Amino acid sequence: MGTRFGHRKMLIGGELVESESGRWLESVNPANEELIGHVPQCSKADVDRAVAAAKQAAPEWDAIGVKARADLLRELGRRLQERAAEILEVEVADCGSTIGKLRGDVGHAVGALDQFAGLGYEIKGETIPASTNNLHITIRQPYGVVGRIAPFNHPLYFAVGGAAPALMAGNTVVVKPPEQSPLSASILSEICRDLFPRGVVNIVSGFGAETGDAIVRHPDVRRIGFIGSVPSGLAIQRAAAETCVKHVSLELGGKNPMIVFPDVDIDQAVNAAVMGMNFAWQGQSCGSTSRLLLHESLHDEFVGKLKARIDAIRLGDPADEKSQMGPINSKAQYERVLRYIGYGKEDGARLLSGGYRPEDAEFKRGYWVRPTVFADVTPDMRIAREEIFGPVLSVLKWKTLEEALHIANSVEYGLTASIWTNDIKTALRTAKAVQSGYIWINGFSSHYRGTPFGGLKNSGTGREEGIDELLSYTEVKAIHIGI
Ligand code: NAP
Repeated sequence: MGTRFGHRKMLIGGELVESESGRWLESVNPANEELIGHVPQCSKADVDRAVAAAKQAAPEWDAIGVKARADLLRELGRRLQERAAEILEVEVADCGSTIGKLRGDVGHAVGALDQFAGLGYEIKGETIPASTNNLHITIRQPYGVVGRIAPFNHPLYFAVGGAAPALMAGNTVVVKPPEQSPLSASILSEICRDLFPRGVVNIVSGFGAETGDAIVRHPDVRRIGFIGSVPSGLAIQRAAAETCVKHVSLELGGKNPMIVFPDVDIDQAVNAAVMGMNFAWQGQSCGSTSRLLLHESLHDEFVGKLKARIDAIRLGDPADEKSQMGPINSKAQYERVLRYIGYGKEDGARLLSGGYRPEDAEFKRGYWVRPTVFADVTPDMRIAREEIFGPVLSVLKWKTLEEALHIANSVEYGLTASIWTNDIKTALRTAKAVQSGYIWINGFSSHYRGTPFGGLKNSGTGREEGIDELLSYTEVKAIHIGI
């Protein structure tokens, strides 16, 4: 019997193709465990074909110039919008994130295309007064073939948003979508097949350990942009180094602190603590503020209000506009979330809210868990130290700023932080001292396009979403002209 979305194809060298291996990956709806479609499980041979096609297309793609590339990126945005309803239907079923949240993702992808199309003429060099007898200039040139590997939480957005700066800078791309939620990449493949010169965009679905690894190791892929977990990022750095010298940028995980000072409006800060967890996509966000650091003076009142808000979150069918949280993305991720809830209990934290799978009939199948809050968490506990990437919030208590900073900075991660206070000096002192790459003062969760997003410590290397990202897809040459 056929599945809802059928067998879909990927894009290699301008053709929609199956894997040469004949293998297929299954895609499952996490809301009900229904098998909803298949995509090719691409092999190393498929990756080799994709890289060869990208390599062949690269010189001409660079040569067509900024304006022609910008026009094509903007046209890609228009075509994504034309098919937005279809993309939304596929992504909600394939990811489990709520329809309200995922509706924004096509818009974010179009925003990235527009942004980088508009920045094309900024891919420029400098003149440097290094001597009086010569003219010293720099120029920027593309790497050639770029590999982009995406995680499961925003499959279409990360595929498009990640490819946009690489393409704008004159590179061709080989993109690997996540195996858990790969279906929207087949729609992207169809659009790109019709739009771009053959070989400019290649999309290969498959497992990280096989398809992703083949991209990373390929000697003709000198630039890799990766979004995913710390262990995968480390594996990619190691594997990349085995073939040749490569430029690898990594956007990795977070265990992000939200630090609340005694002078805040508690209701506003409670709202931020809930919204900062991104429950609309089950907390599966690298930027979720999953460690809530409360000053002892407001702790008890805060926690009471927080529990009321979390208990009221409406879990349900992600395709229903009224649902505020859907199922966890995959069985493996669901089991991970449950495992960490177990660790929280074992390590002596107090379960304040959730922590279980609801028993109602609509949750009988699928990967459901109530949004969960643990109080009385101490910095040594596993739920305080390790990224869960799910709807689990850990509440910790502090007395002095030094203690708050010590807790905030005590993990391997350094992606985002949210600081809540009305005292500007305290806010800025904290922002300077906290070891995170992206900080909100009296804010949460939002990405502001144009500002550099990325992590310190094990949360990554490189910055995305701003001009730094565009330029990171170029290499600088210095040229000295005798005059
Ligand atoms: P993941 O397991 O690291 O996978 C991310 C992608 O990398 C997937 O496409 C995966 O393939 C592939 N992959 C895994 N191992 C690989 C290897 N050795 N070589 C090449 N490719 C490999 O992460 P995830 O579970 O999908 O996503 C959650 C993680 O992403 C969290 O840690 C989250 O914080 C992080 N994230 C970071 C950001 C950011 O901007 N900093 C944004 C979103 C998510 P499969 O298809 O087989 O999984």
